[in-house]
Amino acid sequence: MRKGEYIRDILAGDVGRPVVAHGWVKTRRDSKGIHFVQINDGSCFADLQVVIENGAIEESVLKQVTTGASVRVEGELVPSPASGQPVELKAKAIFVYGTADPASYPLQKKGHTMEFLREIAHLRPRSNTFGAVFRVRNALAKAIHDFFQERGFLYVHTPIITTSDCEGAGAMFGVTTLDLMNLPRYGEGPRIGEIDFSQDFFGKPAYLTVSGQLEAEVFALAFTNVYTFGPTFRAENSNTPRHLAEFWMVEPEMAFCDLQDDIALAEEFLKAIIAKVMDECLPDLEFFNKRFDPQVLETLEHVVKSSFAHVSYTEAIEILQKSGRNWEFPVHWGADLQSEHERYLTEEVFRRPVIVTDYPKEIKAFYMRVNEDGRTVRAMDVLAPRIGEIIGGSQREERYDVLLQRIRECGLSEENYWWYLDLRKYGSAPHAGFGLGFERLMLYLTGMKNIRDVIPFPRTPGSAEF
Ligand code: ATP
Ligand code: MN
Repeated sequence: MRKGEYIRDILAGDVGRPVVAHGWVKTRRDSKGIHFVQINDGSCFADLQVVIENGAIEESVLKQVTTGASVRVEGELVPSPASGQPVELKAKAIFVYGTADPASYPLQKKGHTMEFLREIAHLRPRSNTFGAVFRVRNALAKAIHDFFQERGFLYVHTPIITTSDCEGAGAMFGVTTLDLMNLPRYGEGPRIGEIDFSQDFFGKPAYLTVSGQLEAEVFALAFTNVYTFGPTFRAENSNTPRHLAEFWMVEPEMAFCDLQDDIALAEEFLKAIIAKVMDECLPDLEFFNKRFDPQVLETLEHVVKSSFAHVSYTEAIEILQKSGRNWEFPVHWGADLQSEHERYLTEEVFRRPVIVTDYPKEIKAFYMRVNEDGRTVRAMDVLAPRIGEIIGGSQREERYDVLLQRIRECGLSEENYWWYLDLRKYGSAPHAGFGLGFERLMLYLTGMKNIRDVIPFPRTPGSAEF
């Protein structure tokens, strides 16, 4: 590692000592022969102000100290007369690693639009906004691991390539090494004309995973409490501010647990990780509060303190029907909740996160445990103001016969799920879990409006640059 301190530590340290700082120049201002240079190394929101007195640095070097350049500054840390910063670095020597032509450097001081910054995703991490976004993202990832590790959960790495199309959670990306210009096809028999995937890499059609849940269940039925945290893919052509083709999902799975335990964990989990990020990234969150959403801090504090509302799907439908609203998507028992309904429940009725349970089995996945009424399943969705669904979970069907029947009802092939059914034959146990969209939670934490702006390199329909 380079010799020198993070700017975060320099700013928190004592004055009067020699300091070596590294970073990229944010801005430079010259006044009466004195030069004020703000540098940032990504370690914290605040920049370090470097003061270069008249004649302190050779003119040929000084010329290269422009916005975007990467530098090393050696000097003395002194109290700063300027307001808003306790200390500044009085430069004695400067080394420029890489220059940045001010005429063409795309990241200027003026506020750029989010759309423009997406087009320069290789440089946007150096902006104030994206510095804050990715520090929060890092803190959130760590808070998630800490939460589960402190509770004895095993971190399991589930596969990215899969041959089981997980319950139609979304359209899938195919994975193949077949020559697309020259696909092998059956020349005879009942499948004549169809593509012969037995000649493909895996001997059958393969996809990028839409969820690690089924494999996480295998591990839960051996390690009791487990979680996955990995990339997930959906080939859905939905160009919305809430959907990505590649996103990250957190999926805990717990054996000897029912839906109530699952709900309790989801609530404890959200509160704990939000509190942790607020603790670690307050300056970043304050920036979001100031620049993007004046309610974000208040909302987060509220979520940490308040208890979530609980309502059954059937009750939710009644509330929506009594609302007197003109819904774009009509409300009746059996219909899925749409964004407009979710937002009404969280933002207007309950004004806090809401957990909706016991959905009709027809609108939920085959693996959810069927209730005694035979019509609903032990599902739970956590809905959050502004975002809508943030967590989807359920108690899983642990009874072999019921699961087999559900697989058939849903028109799925039982041969494909042989190992999943096997789990119900050998040492089956009640178990439950949920999936949290990591970037959805990032939207919530930061108040950013578009999911493309909370992931380093977004993949969306028509766009996979960088
Ligand atoms: P939605 O109705 O919003 O498309 P979903 O019902 O398809 O969500 P699930 O299949 O339950 O979502 O996936 C679990 C979680 O993953 C969701 O609660 C959400 O937080 C997140 N998620 C789902 N699809 C996407 C996506 N395309 N981009 C980012 N996050 C997603
Ligand atoms: Mn979806």
